[in-house]
Amino acid sequence: MGDCLFCKIIKGEIPSDKVYEDDRVLVFKDIEPQAPVHLLAIPKTHIQSAAHITPENSAEAAYLFEVIAKVTAEQKLDKGFRLVSNCGEHGQQTVPHLHVHILGDRQMAWPPG
Ligand code: AMP
Ligand code: ZN
Repeated sequence: MGDCLFCKIIKGEIPSDKVYEDDRVLVFKDIEPQAPVHLLAIPKTHIQSAAHITPENSAEAAYLFEVIAKVTAEQKLDKGFRLVSNCGEHGQQTVPHLHVHILGDRQMAWPPG
């Protein structure tokens, strides 16, 4: 996807602070952190959002969560963490490439705004 910000980050056309990378997933630091730990986990396959997960691409979404479990353990977030995947207009998704925010190292509140 030529004009997708996160596809450009995957291709290295835009720099990012990488925490984890393999051939299917990239995890990098959010540029505007909302918690002491704020990472973005993305599949390297362009999937627009959680609303665009299908039988054809759901293995990539499942693997994303496998990596999240590994990375949160590496980050020593043993007291817990918050995962958020904003989806579409009401979800306030600003980058149309599926991403899971990993927020941690502070007490979270509920409900979200
Ligand atoms: P969302 O608003 O849920 O679509 O999340 C997009 C996230 O991407 C926001 O938290 C932004 O701070 C973050 N972001 C935007 N551009 C960059 C970038 N170049 N590097 C890292 N994070 C970014
Ligand atoms: Zn993309």
